[in-house]
Parts: sequence; C-alpha cells; structure tokens
Amino acid sequence: MGTLQGELMYLNNLVVNTTYPGAQQAGTSRSSMSLPRPKSSGLLGSEGSCYESLCEQQPIGRRLFRQFLLDSNSQYAAAAKLLEDFDYWQHMEDEAKEKAKMSVLAKFCQPESRTFLFSHAGDAAEKYTSLSISNFDEAAMEHVREATRTFLKGGPFSEYLKSPFFYRFLQWKEYEKQKITRKYFYEFRTLGRGGFGEVCAVQVKHTGQMYACKKLDKRRLKTKGGERLALIEKQILEKANSRFVINLAYAYEDRTHLCLVIDLMSGGDLKFHIYDLGKRGIRMERVVYYVAQITSGILHLHSMDIVYRDMKPENVLLDAKGQCRLSDFGLAVELPKGKKICQKAGTTGYMAPEILRQENYGMSVDWWSVGCSIYEMVAARLPFKDFKEKVQNEEVTRRTLEDDCKFQHSDFDAPVKDLISHFLKKKVQNRLGCRGDDPRNHVFFKGINFHRLEAGLAEPPWVPKPNVIYAKDMDAFRTASEVEDVKLDSKDERFFKEFSTGAVPVRWQKEMIESGTFDLLNSSDFNGTLPPHLRT
Ligand code: ADP
Ligand code: MG
Ligand code: MG
Repeated sequence: MGTLQGELMYLNNLVVNTTYPGAQQAGTSRSSMSLPRPKSSGLLGSEGSCYESLCEQQPIGRRLFRQFLLDSNSQYAAAAKLLEDFDYWQHMEDEAKEKAKMSVLAKFCQPESRTFLFSHAGDAAEKYTSLSISNFDEAAMEHVREATRTFLKGGPFSEYLKSPFFYRFLQWKEYEKQKITRKYFYEFRTLGRGGFGEVCAVQVKHTGQMYACKKLDKRRLKTKGGERLALIEKQILEKANSRFVINLAYAYEDRTHLCLVIDLMSGGDLKFHIYDLGKRGIRMERVVYYVAQITSGILHLHSMDIVYRDMKPENVLLDAKGQCRLSDFGLAVELPKGKKICQKAGTTGYMAPEILRQENYGMSVDWWSVGCSIYEMVAARLPFKDFKEKVQNEEVTRRTLEDDCKFQHSDFDAPVKDLISHFLKKKVQNRLGCRGDDPRNHVFFKGINFHRLEAGLAEPPWVPKPNVIYAKDMDAFRTASEVEDVKLDSKDERFFKEFSTGAVPVRWQKEMIESGTFDLLNSSDFNGTLPPHLRT
C-alpha cells in the first residue's frame, strides 16, 4: 500500500479544511455489506457466455472461475495452476524465467495435465510425448498454454456457468450496477482546472480507494458546445484498458456536473518536470522510461483505431510510483478502420506537417507529436519553437514544413537523435511507426523489456517524493467564472443519462480486489451452494 500512503501524504499537504477519513471508518461500513441477489431469474442472464470476458478479462470473474477450477477436481486444478505459471513465466527474465519454465514443465508432466493436452493438441500431441527441458521452447510453451485454454473453454466452462461460483459472480455484477452519486465519495480539494470545471481528489467511502474526479459543468458544456466532446472523451477513457492510459472507474452526474472518476496521478505532468524543477529538461534514463510507456500507450490507442491528437508533455501525468499515463482525451477521435480525417486539431508546436497542410491524416500525427515531445524532454524547448518564444503560429507552421530539426543541446546522444529524427520525418511514408514498423524495436529502447513494462514490473527510475506537490502554486487556480443562465432541456437530460453509466466493470472489479472488499465479502457469507430456487 506504498502508493496509497504516498497519495495520502500528498493530500495532507493539499487538504487544509477537510478532515481525512480514517481507515477505521472504511472498515466498519465494509463489513456490514452483503451482496445483492441478481435480478434475472436464471443463471445466464444478460452477461452472455463469452469465455474471454467472463473468465479472463473481468478480474472478479477470473478469480471466481479459478476458485471453481481448484474446487472441482485434480485435472481442472492442474489446468488452473498451469495458466498461473504461464502468466508468471511470461513476465520473468533470465534465471527466474528458466525456473518458471521448469515449474510449468513439472506441472505439465503430471498425468492430470497431460490428459487435456493430448486431447487438445491435435497433430502436435505426438511431439510432446518426449518433452524435456531442452526441447521445451517458447513455441512449445505457447502451444501448451493454448491447449490448456481450449480445454477450459469446453467442459469446465459450461460446468462453471451452472455452478455457485458463477451465481456469486452474478451477485457481484448486480452490486456493480448500483447507482453512483456524489455520496459514494469523500471529496478533497482541487488538483487542477480544465476548460469545463475543476479536477479534484476523491476517495470511495467503502473501499478507501483514491481517485481524481474531473467535473464538467453542465451549463458550461452546453454554452460552449462541449456535450458531444465530453461523451467522446468518456467513451475513449472507458474503452482504454492500458497501464499507460488514464482509466475511467466511474461516470456519474449530480445536479450541476458530469463527473469522470479517473486514476489519481499525484506526481504531476511532464511539462512541470521539464521546466519547473531546477535544471531544465529530464535526464536520459527517465526519458527512455517515459517514452517507452508513452509509446506503449499510443500503440494501445492506435490498436483501437483512436488518434490521440494531443500528445504533449503536459498531457502525460505521473502517478505516485513514478509511472506515466496519457490523459486528456478531449481531442481524440476514433476512426473507422483504415479511414482518414481532415480536420485541424492539436497544439501549436506539436502538430504534424500533414495536419498543417490540411491533408487527410490518420495515426501518423501522434508519432510526430511523440517526436516533438521527446525533443522537449531533453532540450526544454520544441524543435520548431523556443521556450516561451513570441512567435506567430504561421511562422511555426512554416518552420515545421520547411526547416530541418537541429540538435544543438549537448544532452542529445546518438540513439535519441536517431529516434527523434525518425519520428520527425515530414513525409508520412518515411516516419517511424507509420511504415508497418514497431517503434519499440528502435535501439533507443534496448534497455527496456516491454513485457515487464506492460506488466508493471519495470522499476521507475525516479519516484515522486510524497510530501511534494508537483504542480504550480494553488493560487493559480482561480474560481470558475459564472456561467450565463442557460436552460437545460430534455435533450440535455437524455445526453446526461447516456453519459452517467456508473461503475466501469474492469476497473471497479480491480478496486474490489485490491481494497480487500472482494475477499472480505466472499469469505463472510459464501457457503458454496446455489440458492434453493436455482437448484436442480
Ligand atoms: P481539460 O481537458 O479541460 O484541459 P484536463 O483533463 O487536462 O482538463 O485536466 C485539467 C487539469 O487537472 C490538468 O492539467 C491537471 O493539472 C489536473 N488533472 C487532470 N487529471 C488528473 C489526474 N488524473 N490526477 C491528477 N490531476 C489531474
Ligand atoms: Mg488539459
Ligand atoms: Mg481536454
């Protein structure tokens, strides 16, 4: 819980006139809860029967399916343990990885595991009769993993759907659907201010989980035509499921605001780290780490056909551990597969030549902005605009289209120069990331193991100090200007309803597990049987 500690200290500095609720309080309200009964009469209601979603992607589903397997028979239990070992193996390296492999092999050699492999490996089964450490390579590992999953998707999965474990899952799903109001959270002071309202720190009362809450003023949204944009931002945050993109936990409304409850990032944004902390720029070890995480985040967005369009250090936020995430999706758009868009959007100094020339563009523009951002992290200025330079946008456009990028700062080393030059190719077809290539393979990243990074196992090179606030003086946050008296009508109300969908399943389930609420509730009143009306 080191992170929570850090966040609390951060808030203690911030919170002047709000008392901090003790853990005690969170504990008492928790133990008096019990899970609701699912609304649908049968077991298979609205949840559908997709194995991937029910048993792999949803954290509580995954837990309960595993409990079911361990509880059933030795063969199912062997499959569950094998899958766990595979996950572990994937994220290890060197000696630990070799050890994990031996463990898989040892488990796999048990007769229970062999049975399902041989019934599902098809032609390849022969090959595995003589498996030993020496010929148990990555491909063999993958094959065994797939065969294990295929086995689980069959009989075990259909048995699970009829079991008390799945009934329990449906109870959790019912609980997940509860209406969220502002009473669900304790609210703390402002962390920052955006175009439609403030962002403040909040804590879920019954789990103790800390989040940031981005509040959007309903009337201001309406006057500034921001309703559609707010919905796009919400939908993108909701879809993204990456360690390197801000995640949405809840979306709800109160009388005056629409609220997005998102990951709390207490380490400040990268712009602040570049310009406002002593020596300008960020040292190379940190640049490599952040750019690796940014690259993974951008690849995740692109894999969902989302162009970010606002990549810049200001929008990259650090959490209490020193890991970063992309935030602020007000300009992002989802493009239909392979489609391009022609619309000027972005921030001066970071916009790609194809946007400035008003051509059709796609994902390429984000890689250009990544190039500009790396340059800025090193040199504390942009490639085509000096820090705080008073210059017309037209001149920045001209330089972007015509000038070469110069590397005068002494901190540019060969790999970073090469990386930036490849991101700043003016022609899209020459640009890194746009040629069917993967930027993660560039030598700049040779010290990064992306598997471990994705799994959150790569130690950050720098950890924010818990007692420092990484943001400009709080005085800089003025109170919101009054909004003219606008009337909200039924059309607005419909839109607010569409926005306010409550808890986001994957994130909410993670919160239940990480806060201990899942274990607490599951052990307290789970007797492993179905309620009478469902017994056959
Ligand atoms: P806008 O889209 O209106 O610009 P932002 O999403 O950029 O709003 O949020 C405004 C400010 O609030 C940010 O510049 C930052 O200082 C702060 N902020 C936003 N999200 C978070 C977060 N998840 N954790 C901490 N502070 C945040
Ligand atoms: Mg912003
Ligand atoms: Mg925005």
